[in-house]
Amino acid sequence: MRKRVTILGVAVDDVLMDDAIAAVARFIADGGPHQIVTINPEFIMEARRNCAFRQVLAAADLATPDGFGIILAARWRGTPLRGRVTGVALTERIAAEAAQRGWSLFLLGAAPGVAERAAAALQRANPGLRIAGCYAGSPHPDDEPAIRERILAAKPDVLLVAYGHPAQDLWIARNQPILRVPVAMGVGGTFDELAGVVPRAPALVQRLGLKWLYRLLVQPWRWRRIMTAVPLFLWTALRERRSFNESHAQE
Ligand code: UDP
Repeated sequence: MRKRVTILGVAVDDVLMDDAIAAVARFIADGGPHQIVTINPEFIMEARRNCAFRQVLAAADLATPDGFGIILAARWRGTPLRGRVTGVALTERIAAEAAQRGWSLFLLGAAPGVAERAAAALQRANPGLRIAGCYAGSPHPDDEPAIRERILAAKPDVLLVAYGHPAQDLWIARNQPILRVPVAMGVGGTFDELAGVVPRAPALVQRLGLKWLYRLLVQPWRWRRIMTAVPLFLWTALRERRSFNESHAQE
């Protein structure tokens, strides 16, 4: 049974990293197509206005809590989550397990050459890791048939897609009925981080839940997105809590 918490209309699984990896192993053993989404505040704000994205998140086989904002909002609702499972951390752990268990990975997306560099970094950290393929491609629908051909030929166990949200998650949902990869996950800027294109936030900054502030400093042109993502999300979640408490008080 999945234990889930709903934040502003989006369900998130209450999983820790070991639970997420156990789910990945189950999906691969099952063999059918599965989709993983990593829910951060930006995902929830997008889902509020984008019905197709909201449906994809709701239908996902695993929705991990990615980001401190999600943890805070869950706590405010009185339905705390046990911890975070970010896209980058899950990718690294999947790579480590893959090297042990023989799973193969396909890295799709990011700027040309970045997926290859990210794959090389994962292989350096995990000797023996099998990379089924790397390809930048593009999320444009015209490119889908050619991308599908590559993935079908490579037969990966895990497909990681870095086209940013919501494009990557919609791409997976559209193509999984044909690809039928056991595990497909949208990973946002993960390849950029692994390849060193974007500097990684120090561990302490991540532990303090301040990665959004770090991103604001290293990628200041993203300020509008980040401000929507974090302060506006928290404000909206706080307002929801107030109306939630008021409606309960009236009962
Ligand atoms: N990207 C891409 N093609 C596109 C749009 C984005 O390959 O048309 C890649 C981009 O190079 C980056 C990733 O998708 O590697 C998006 O990273 P971001 O951190 O913006 O992800 P988000 O936070 O939006 O999920």
